[in-house]
Amino acid sequence: MTFDSKHPETQVLHAGWRADPSTGSVAVPIHQTTSYQFNSTDHASKLFALEELGNIYTRIMNPTNDVLEKRVAALEGGVAALATASGQSASAFAIQNIAKVGDNIVSSTDLYGGTWNLFANVLKDQGIEVRFVDPADPENFRKATDARTRAYYAETLPNPKLRVFPIKEVAAIGREMGIPLIMDNTAAAYLCRPLEHGAAVVVYSATKYIGGHGTSVGGVIVDGGNFDWEGAGDRQPALNTPDPSYHGAVWTQAVKPIGPVAYIIKARTTLLRDLGSAMSPFNAFQLIQGMETLPLRMRAHCENAARVAQYLSNHPAVARVIHPSLQTGEEKRRADAVLKGGYGGLVGFELKGGRDAGRAFIDALKMFYHVANIGDARSLAIHPASTTHSQLTAEEQEAAGVNQGYVRLSIGIEHIDDILADLDQALTVAG
Ligand code: PLP
Repeated sequence: MTFDSKHPETQVLHAGWRADPSTGSVAVPIHQTTSYQFNSTDHASKLFALEELGNIYTRIMNPTNDVLEKRVAALEGGVAALATASGQSASAFAIQNIAKVGDNIVSSTDLYGGTWNLFANVLKDQGIEVRFVDPADPENFRKATDARTRAYYAETLPNPKLRVFPIKEVAAIGREMGIPLIMDNTAAAYLCRPLEHGAAVVVYSATKYIGGHGTSVGGVIVDGGNFDWEGAGDRQPALNTPDPSYHGAVWTQAVKPIGPVAYIIKARTTLLRDLGSAMSPFNAFQLIQGMETLPLRMRAHCENAARVAQYLSNHPAVARVIHPSLQTGEEKRRADAVLKGGYGGLVGFELKGGRDAGRAFIDALKMFYHVANIGDARSLAIHPASTTHSQLTAEEQEAAGVNQGYVRLSIGIEHIDDILADLDQALTVAG
């Protein structure tokens, strides 16, 4: 029996696991196996027909991954989850699970660059159109919807703009029409539970705050179990019509006896089975270790980031600081409605000296790591105009919220004095 709690601090330590029944092992073992012995041909047949749930092959399920899946599902208040090889595969599967060639989804423009590429190029090549809309007005989602719209997609706390997404408003618009809202909650892990605001599915790059130590790439999709896929009828054909890839199963009917998990079971038994973006059990083990301290770390990230935002906003070399604590009006109202316990660990700022100053600042850092990552326990920095956004024109960079002097910081959990001292000396060098 596992210990159930409604408190995230307890869930991350206890959900989904209680001492191994055969060895007594308290830490979750790494089940480094490809396959699982069937008890009999009858048992094997039942597993393949989904008449009984159990382990078949690690590309589709693994007991170590299962604990991570249960923990993230518990943290989010969802019913089940699926671990994937990366955050990218989680985002792709979350959409491919319900959208096919000729269909479309409506997405916020405020997205991680990798997701933008996936949507604007790869999904487009696969015949799935992504319609990008400005989330400043939630009604933009309704306006972009047509009969072939299968999902809405957004990030809770998207960088670089750090404008918090209006989850409740957009989820409500979608629900009127049988359209689920899929939320990438990567930067707001622990601070927001999107399902409570009406989202139907949550995706994570577990690589970031969930793992928290920069060791392992991984992704997770959480099924909220709170969306009426059957009631959505023709709007959601992927779950309501026979699936030739699984014995003609109609997922909302076939999975009913197990619970409201049609969406996530389909993703596991078709996309994960056939495309194979499985998380390695070793990575699942690493991500479980990291996740056990997520609430503690997140509070420290938030506290340090707020101090950094304050410090930067008083610095003469800095033109502008981007952090939810400094927002005003509607942006601040949304941040306060969605984020609880802090405004996250990301801080953006623009240097008055533009491109040269941005690059000099990064090169002068001594403690911060210069990497293309966020959410590590260590402090990280990057100059997007030279790296992640370098392929964009100056105009496109401005639209993305990244000008030549823009620097992105992912504030770690080191002592605040060391963080501020490193920023201070680098700003002096950058002038
Ligand atoms: N979503 C967000 C918000 C991210 O920041 C990232 C990676 O930076 C991803 C998704 C993709 O995740 P991964 O790198 O684990 O594939």
